[in-house]
Amino acid sequence: MAAKKVVVVGGGIVGCLTALELINRGCQVTLVERNVVASQTSGESSWAGAGILFPLLPWMYKDEVNKLALAGASIYPHLCKRLLTTTGIDPELINCGMQILAPADALTATDWCLKNNVPVQANSQGLFLPSVAQVRPPQLLKALRLSLIQSGVTLLERTELQALNQSEQLNSWQTTTGEILEADQFVVTSGAWSFELLKNTAQQLNIKPMRGQILLYEQVGEKLSHIIYKDGFYLVPRQDGLLLAGSTLEDVGFDKNTTEDVKLALQTKAETILPSLKNASVLKHWCGLRPGTPENLPTIAAHSSIQNLYLNTGHFRYGLTMAPASAQRIAALMCD
Ligand SMILES: Cc1cc2nc3c(=O)[nH]c(=O)nc-3n(C[C@H](O)[C@H](O)[C@H](O)COP(=O)(O)OP(=O)(O)OC[C@H]3O[C@@H](n4cnc5c(N)ncnc54)[C@H](O)[C@@H]3O)c2cc1C
Repeated sequence: MAAKKVVVVGGGIVGCLTALELINRGCQVTLVERNVVASQTSGESSWAGAGILFPLLPWMYKDEVNKLALAGASIYPHLCKRLLTTTGIDPELINCGMQILAPADALTATDWCLKNNVPVQANSQGLFLPSVAQVRPPQLLKALRLSLIQSGVTLLERTELQALNQSEQLNSWQTTTGEILEADQFVVTSGAWSFELLKNTAQQLNIKPMRGQILLYEQVGEKLSHIIYKDGFYLVPRQDGLLLAGSTLEDVGFDKNTTEDVKLALQTKAETILPSLKNASVLKHWCGLRPGTPENLPTIAAHSSIQNLYLNTGHFRYGLTMAPASAQRIAALMCD
């Protein structure tokens, strides 16, 4: 029997991992990305993210959010090892731990950690969670792009699909330049743009862009060895000694500009926590558009009326963490 043809729409972390899951299940997979996967200049949310593999304050979320995030995080050690072996590119997975400074809800937090088998240590500064890990998203995406090619996924980059105007069976989908892509199944993994793509066919899909800005510092003085979190703000030390400081949650539509006022605000927070950063340069300042959803819950499901169309989108703040588990779920739904 001929392999089932599947088109994956969007080449962020969710699309890349979905494509790999599908090809591992014997499908013939084409991934369509309107930019270039893993590109520094056109990278979207997945490239821009901090790469913390944990739902920052899980005790504030619904169980479903945490379940998916913890399941995703647990796949990373195996995934990163495989990517390093097969591509030679290191996604820089580090079990660095996370220090939460002066948590307002220490009792609730400790209780949640104990109930969910997440190690937690109380110390003079607050709570330390030693099992929290991080990856470096640009490295991870570079490794995934190569892995897609090695695995036989057809990459159609600089190719954009048109908004869908369809209500029944979907046999083909047209690009903005008029090319027709035919497949047995389609899966939308286009992050913050998913609603725009499907608004004529899935009005109930509640996804909107939420901008996040972030700074990259050189590190001077004593190097941080773990993530620090305080009141919605984090510092993430990278393997090469650089340091991320972020981020923001801004409801500004599809505006992908960075702003000077946010840069100053992030610098003030970073330098209050780590005064040695006053002498350090900010090397980069970028932003990404998260696929925002009301409760941080993605849609991982068949489309409500178009039989062979699937959705794996809306991962909001934790798409990097959730993606490996989310990809397994949608692939199982499409293939099993
Ligand atoms: C500042 C910041 C910090 C973050 N930190 C973390 C973190 O520490 N941990 C964590 O787990 N998550 C984090 N996130 C969230 C995480 O990055 C997102 O949830 C995740 O990247 C979403 O992945 P995605 O593949 O759905 O979307 P995207 O990465 O946005 O990918 C969607 C892709 O679809 C393409 N596309 C869109 N429309 C079309 C079309 N019509 N045709 C073809 N292609 C199309 C886009 O070009 C894009 O490449 C952060 C996000 C930001 C912005």
